[in-house]
Amino acid sequence: MGLTDHICKTVDLNKRLNALTSISKTFVSANISGPLANKYVVIKDNICTSDLPTTCASNSLRDYISPYEATCVTLLKRAGAIVIGKANLDEFGMGSTNTNTAFGHVVNSAYSPQSPPRTAGGSSGGSAVAAASGMCDFALGTDTGGSVRLPAAYCGTIGFKPTYGLISRVGVIAYAQSLDTVGILSNDLETVTNVFKVLNQYDPKDPTSLTSDIRRKAEDYKPPRKLRIGLPLECNPSDISPIVRQKWTEILQAMHNDGHKIYQVSIPTIPAALSTYYCISTAECSSNLSRFDGIRYGYRDVDEPDVASYEDANLWYAATRLKGFGDEVRRRVLLGTYSLSAGAYNSHFAQAMKVRRKLQSDFDRIFRAANVLHPNQEKGHQDGVDILITPTTTTSAPTLHDVYSTASPIDAYVNDVLTVAPNLAGLPAISLPCQSPGEPPIAVQIVGQFGKDETVLQCARYVS
Ligand code: GLN
Repeated sequence: MGLTDHICKTVDLNKRLNALTSISKTFVSANISGPLANKYVVIKDNICTSDLPTTCASNSLRDYISPYEATCVTLLKRAGAIVIGKANLDEFGMGSTNTNTAFGHVVNSAYSPQSPPRTAGGSSGGSAVAAASGMCDFALGTDTGGSVRLPAAYCGTIGFKPTYGLISRVGVIAYAQSLDTVGILSNDLETVTNVFKVLNQYDPKDPTSLTSDIRRKAEDYKPPRKLRIGLPLECNPSDISPIVRQKWTEILQAMHNDGHKIYQVSIPTIPAALSTYYCISTAECSSNLSRFDGIRYGYRDVDEPDVASYEDANLWYAATRLKGFGDEVRRRVLLGTYSLSAGAYNSHFAQAMKVRRKLQSDFDRIFRAANVLHPNQEKGHQDGVDILITPTTTTSAPTLHDVYSTASPIDAYVNDVLTVAPNLAGLPAISLPCQSPGEPPIAVQIVGQFGKDETVLQCARYVS
């Protein structure tokens, strides 16, 4: 299909699915012989582009055009990829259903238009639908606590979150910077691998970019041909639906039949991961979002504020942020401000940081390969496992009606129970669709040791 036809088809699809917040007007390949020559890409709208708006699906940034482009976008263009448009998301990346957005919810493309519309998952719901429905060859998302893997699982596409620090975060608008990771969504595993190769570069402008030394150590490791697969006791909640459990078991059985070995492992800190994640991510978001005050960035309550007409400047800030941010973002800013406050810091934020460290060492204890971040632990554990395989989500995508009827925001947070732990430890993880043809999408997640992205991708090739 030619480019013009592709764009017409995309515009048409988008009317129903609402996956894109903007569509490009010019389509020129910067490198017609590059490794991604003429591949179409959609970019999540919290990643800066200089020719299309970057809105974070927020009223506070509705017309914002960034003066510079994210490093990951520049690298893709240099490799020949063509940007088709920007993808809808939960505002600033906060959510699991792509309903917290100033642009209207995204509709899951995996279900027939005749059936009740289903959530695309979030926060990279637009990216997942764009990739799953063929609007692009691949999409970029961001994954802070599961936002690439969960929507990929709900929409029936692949979602890869590499090790934290491998892909530059320069130009990625921060939600929770110690967790935010750029991820790749596509229907094709080889495309995911090729895009990762292009983006996996040290960036001197990103203070959290892994140094060449650490990258070399990670790359020197060759994954074994027959894998030791861990089955974490704590990733088997009772509310996993029967069909998800069945597919998960079938995949493990097939891996076993192919000569890989399965072991039960225990990661005792996992049950505390969800609350730890929500404490740390909200704390970081409250600090990151303070810049959207209508002066430095973002929507202003009035064009030329006459601050004197307000009782004090705080009221003006409050009015600006009330109208600029949606309910979920304001809720998280409040939660995070509380856990960073003098009275709650020790009992909340400091505790969460301790649990995070404990979780990281729990992971280090079960993996065969050493964690490249810890030189004194260079040998790893001979009896450890190479990867973990768990479901990505407990069920398939709920209907949008069910999402809007959810009684409390806490119920929505529970969706992330299986995805947040790898983010807290910075580990690579991929979600792979595993439903039978004609069935609703469900998926398994493969998690590897820090820096062992190649092991995760290799296991994904075995499973696919
Ligand atoms: N659903 C999680 C949250 O709301 C994860 C979001 C993400 O990964 N950006 O925070």
